[in-house]
Amino acid sequence: MKVKLKLEKLDCMGSKKERPFLVSGPCSAESEKQVIETAVELAGHGVQVYRAGIWKPRTRPDSFEGRGTVALPWLRRVKEETGMLTATEAANILHVKMALDAGIDILWIGARTTANPFAVQEIADAVSGLDIPIFIKNPINPDIGLWIGAIERINKAGIKKIIAIHRGFSTFQETKFRNTPHWEIPIELKRRIPELPIINDPSHICGRRDLLQDVSQKAMDLDFDGLFIESHIDPDKALSDSNQQITPEALGKLINSLIIRKPEINGNGLNDILESLRVKIDMFDKSLIEILQDRMEISKKIGRFKKSKNVTILQNKRWSEIVDDRVKAGSAKGLSQNFIMKIYTAIHEESINWQNAVMRSNGKLK
Ligand code: PEP
Ligand code: MN
Repeated sequence: MKVKLKLEKLDCMGSKKERPFLVSGPCSAESEKQVIETAVELAGHGVQVYRAGIWKPRTRPDSFEGRGTVALPWLRRVKEETGMLTATEAANILHVKMALDAGIDILWIGARTTANPFAVQEIADAVSGLDIPIFIKNPINPDIGLWIGAIERINKAGIKKIIAIHRGFSTFQETKFRNTPHWEIPIELKRRIPELPIINDPSHICGRRDLLQDVSQKAMDLDFDGLFIESHIDPDKALSDSNQQITPEALGKLINSLIIRKPEINGNGLNDILESLRVKIDMFDKSLIEILQDRMEISKKIGRFKKSKNVTILQNKRWSEIVDDRVKAGSAKGLSQNFIMKIYTAIHEESINWQNAVMRSNGKLK
């Protein structure tokens, strides 16, 4: 389902031809010196928006929770001395009021706040009718509905300049990422709201410096509109998120080494080549859907048989055999175990739904 919003582009975004739109700055504003020194260097690397957390949402108590209001004038100095716009996180009505009074240009809604509709609505009411851009991070849990709901609440308050920030999702399992990217979620967000800009926050996805380059490149290859990266003048001494922050110089290097590809192909018959390959893909997809439908019709017959014999839909042994066999067959054809598992889990779930419908019908189902 597509979502219709009233959106406007941010003036500072420009068009992503050679360089992405860049938001950068420290995780937290720690001291006036740190804020200004980091800002002066970042401005030299073409950063358009300077980010710094004033109030920090920390998972555990007794961590550094930000300097609070004393840090607001430091951001005003950043704007005056470098010309960059400034952005900070607002999690409640007080943050909104204090940030706006201090002349902050952009607010962002953090991942923990996006997950809470009451908090998002409080912010929406506080900014209602104002002309202030708002960046909205994905919720901490992989729930696209909550993300879209937050975007809709802010848009309904009359805010047209909205950018979604993809910062990854928390999981219980340990992975190499601090927050699993689940790229399929921002891709689906783009499909549902094509006119909404999305930028990627590799810092909070990776949680460590050595992965930033790869994730940033992937975001560019998925046609994200920009990057939101934490940078600190002395990352090892940072009071929060020290492992993922990089110096402004390292940020400059990272950005310069990105390959920015075009989202469309023009000229030289390249489009014809792509078109003919896409015709083939469309043809295969059509056959896939027909085959899947035929497969479900067989499942339905099996369902009828099971119903007549009064046996359960799920037979664990058969399901285990299917999984083992299809994973083996897939890997012989170069298809990864993970891929085959995802496909067969989905097919099996649909098949159970079809059989369930047979079991529940009173002989009316054809
Ligand atoms: C941040 O950007 O510093 C931050 C707290 O991010 P998130 O809400 O994504 O955890
Ligand atoms: Mn951070």
